[in-house]
Amino acid sequence: MKYISTRGQGGEKGFKDVLLAGLAEDGGLYVPKELPQFSAEKISSLRSLPYNELAFEVIKPFVNGEIEDSILKGLIDDSYASFAHTAVAPMTQIGHNEWIMELFHGPTLAFKDFALQLLGRLLNHVLTERGERAIVLGATSGDTGSAAIEGCRHSDALDIFILHPYQRVSEVQRRQMTSVLDDNVNNIAIHGNFDDCQSMVKESFADQSFLPENTRLVAVNSINWARIMAQVVYYFHAALQVGAPDREVAFSVPTGNFGDIFAGYIAKGMGLPVGKLVVATNTNDILHRFFKDNDYRKQELKHTLSPSMDIMVSSNFERLLFDMQNRDGAALASLMDSFQQTGTLSVSDSAWDDIKVLFNSSRTDNESTCSAIKELFDRTGYLADPHTITGVRALAEVDIPEEMPKVVLSTAHPVKFGEAIEKAGLETPALPHHMADLMEREERYSVLENDLKKLHGFIQEHSKHS
Ligand SMILES: *Cc1c(COP(=O)(O)O)cnc(C)c1O
Repeated sequence: MKYISTRGQGGEKGFKDVLLAGLAEDGGLYVPKELPQFSAEKISSLRSLPYNELAFEVIKPFVNGEIEDSILKGLIDDSYASFAHTAVAPMTQIGHNEWIMELFHGPTLAFKDFALQLLGRLLNHVLTERGERAIVLGATSGDTGSAAIEGCRHSDALDIFILHPYQRVSEVQRRQMTSVLDDNVNNIAIHGNFDDCQSMVKESFADQSFLPENTRLVAVNSINWARIMAQVVYYFHAALQVGAPDREVAFSVPTGNFGDIFAGYIAKGMGLPVGKLVVATNTNDILHRFFKDNDYRKQELKHTLSPSMDIMVSSNFERLLFDMQNRDGAALASLMDSFQQTGTLSVSDSAWDDIKVLFNSSRTDNESTCSAIKELFDRTGYLADPHTITGVRALAEVDIPEEMPKVVLSTAHPVKFGEAIEKAGLETPALPHHMADLMEREERYSVLENDLKKLHGFIQEHSKHS
């Protein structure tokens, strides 16, 4: 199986090159040229597998033999062994034919661990084999940095540098990052805001002359194909438990950059009977407006109670647009160029009608976030975080056949987002047992001025040269 760019240039690539590249050279995103196909018999045969073994079966065709099976299996086993629940992604029933799949039992209590635990290990394996090293550089407004750090800490071929705005992230968020003391992990608090941090990262990718020799710069953001690939697995996991391949299953997915839900679309493309995909947004609702009115239009960023879904544009949406343009790279490239200039795009009526057979959407504002958290708690005793609740609420808003099982992807543990829980009139739960001592753990981080030269000097000094 080979990969191509959504913008049509650069020819076909193998799995390892796609893994290391992140973004394609023509500015597009990598997608499989053709999807592996799983028959109903094959899907049935996966039913009794534990999560790690299922993951191996689903991921293997995407790696296409470029990593030996026994090694790939080891990397996958290690990735999910660190989860604090032996089911890895346990399901809880919240209503008639309605489930929540908990994707927050990883080391940072959010679903990004599913992808980043594996991504760090895959990168480490491929770099070591090639005798190379890489620097992972990223900026975080608080929530996503820790998942990248936890994903890279065990990888000797990686040095990770995560910038966060000094004194502008919550104590729990800071401690989740800064209490990781491995010597390839570098937390840097920048005197500035999140945008300052992000600009420094962007400028570093644009001019990489500061890098030590034989070292590459890699991005672990959600456009990396390997992240999507890892997320496909839990759609199989959930669907098998509620009746696939004999029944169609609906998924409701709290959505920001369209990575998580796109993995559900890929699962369907592989043969999993996914009957509906519900895009649940907060008031940063560009995707909801697209699915409602075929109007994908950039608006200003709004800060909400579900901050990990606060986006202006959805970086992975390009992958779906590529299919809606009949996989014509040139047509997609010109659509994206015009979006860059005008801040708006739409697709043909027929492409939009076709995609709406599978996708539905719903938007939840801050007030409904709180009332829905309370309502679910009163009805079931289940406490959902403010991201997850957008998915729960969306199910009540859209039309899905009664007999179709519905699974909401729970993307974070409620302890991470206490503000919304308290606004809902409920109490923030305690940290789970494996993190109970977080507030006492030793921390390590450096504070730097908002100055690119100083950052680059710091990276040169603190990365391990080969
Ligand atoms: C990243 C994130 C999301 C959004 O996921 P996308 O793949 O960007 O759509 C939702 N909830 C939480 C808690 C997240 O961290």
